[in-house]
Amino acid sequence: MDYNKLAELLFPDIKENPAGYENQFPARRLPETAKVTRLGPSPTGFIHLGNLYGAFVSERLAHQSNGIFYLRIEDTDDKRYVEGSVKIIIDSLSFFGINFDEGVTESGDRGAYGPYSQSERVEIYQCFAKELVKQGYAYPCFMTSDEIEKIRAEQEANKQNPGIYGKYALCRDFSLEEIKRNIDAGLSYVLRLKSSGSTDIPVQDMRHVSVDDAIRGTLTMPENNQDIVILKANGIPTYHFAHVIDDHLMRTTHVVRGAEWLPSLPIHIELFEKTGFDMPIYCHTGQLMKIDEETGQKRKLSKRHDPELSLDYYRSEGYHPAAMREYMLTLLNSNFEEWHADNPDADIDEFSFTTEKMSTSGALFDLNKLNDVSKDVLVKISAQDLCKFMIDWCREFAPERLSLFEGNEQYWERILDLGRTGDKPRKDLICAKQIFSFISYFFDDYFEVQDKFPENVPAEDIKPILSSYLESYDHNDDQSTWFSKIRAIAEKLNYAAKPKDFKKNPDLYKGHVGDVSTVIRIALMGRAQSPDVWEIQQILGDQRTRSRISAMI
Ligand code: GLU
Repeated sequence: MDYNKLAELLFPDIKENPAGYENQFPARRLPETAKVTRLGPSPTGFIHLGNLYGAFVSERLAHQSNGIFYLRIEDTDDKRYVEGSVKIIIDSLSFFGINFDEGVTESGDRGAYGPYSQSERVEIYQCFAKELVKQGYAYPCFMTSDEIEKIRAEQEANKQNPGIYGKYALCRDFSLEEIKRNIDAGLSYVLRLKSSGSTDIPVQDMRHVSVDDAIRGTLTMPENNQDIVILKANGIPTYHFAHVIDDHLMRTTHVVRGAEWLPSLPIHIELFEKTGFDMPIYCHTGQLMKIDEETGQKRKLSKRHDPELSLDYYRSEGYHPAAMREYMLTLLNSNFEEWHADNPDADIDEFSFTTEKMSTSGALFDLNKLNDVSKDVLVKISAQDLCKFMIDWCREFAPERLSLFEGNEQYWERILDLGRTGDKPRKDLICAKQIFSFISYFFDDYFEVQDKFPENVPAEDIKPILSSYLESYDHNDDQSTWFSKIRAIAEKLNYAAKPKDFKKNPDLYKGHVGDVSTVIRIALMGRAQSPDVWEIQQILGDQRTRSRISAMI
């Protein structure tokens, strides 16, 4: 067969040759250790925690090495295209501090290795596909879906590997004349790789290929023997082919992608061999897992069952990006927490992230752990910055609360700093939504009584406690004077002035001073638990304090 003739027959309009593209996209001028990584999302409008996890790895590898991190949009499947999803991808990642140096942006492409959307690269793929045809490594396949279906059933019945290979590749050895006839008859065809893998020997006897994965170490697997599709009937490449061409021409050094791509790795190895390109270093990340609440077993996070899989979840709950970044690092590298404990004041970007320290079996995502990390991170953020963060969050997710901030910044900052400034700062702030419900009692419109008065306080005592409190209340009292007044109220109404007296002689009292404070707490805050009451009153102010107590009376 004259493969050159076949190539011209299949691709009459492709005039460029591979060397042209090699010149157009030369090796990058970067230091030898610089890594070039990419994120290649499909524009489905859904960007999830797994994407963030992978993006984080790619971003760290590139930016830690003074390399390049670029965004490529893998939009060869237009059925999945969702309008506006490029913006969603860029915005969601940038919120978490992940920014691209190159690639697709909202206002077009940036960088010299584009176009960066696969849909705009069809001519490039076809040029390289034409080259494979010229070398006898690819051929048109006219098999109909019925024929393929029949083969699949036969393979299933015979317990053979499914797919188009060896004797099942019905068009593999078509002559130029047969091909011409089919094309002239208007038959539709795909372009398949003519695999060199052996098809008629047991798997264990097949040639094995090896790859050094930066996360998983050396991976050895049987070579590919499938005549996989490289161009679909519409001339658009499959993932396999686009990956090989793009990552070569864009000069990617490290391909970070999910473990779901491991089974197709032999295909990619063969494609790199046939095209003659150098292979990038693969980094196959583990799947994100969680412990299922019901079964207690590890399982993959699912779009249907786990709202926390979506990145929108973290933004709408109001997780601070610094907390997310720190949690991501604990998830990514087993030695991060130790490093962080040793370097508590260092910027976490100084941590040198390595692929070797990543888990291969899958990272266990744990919302409680994220919350703990978040508490530690937020305690270090100044009230002023936290206030700004809350305002931004409100603007997007709770605009009706924005007016609570306007002209009220100082009130907010005192609230946010409540109990956070001493030697043992309170660590109970997690995310904007939680912070708001945590402190909502500071705002009259959101104040509500959530808890009940203590059981051991008889209903008829509530009024006398609160009335005595109101009578004796002086906003200028210092903390100890204020508390001694509560003690006095307790004693007057037969509650022990000290909890330990009550413990010694429980029969002598109705309860102790703590019960009396709880009554006051509920009147003021609507809750049985809260930070220090005196400090809260100082923030609420004299008038609001009095009116809450009166209202309850
Ligand atoms: N478009 C592919 C995906 O969304 C990208 C995989 C890769 O990074 O190579 O899964």
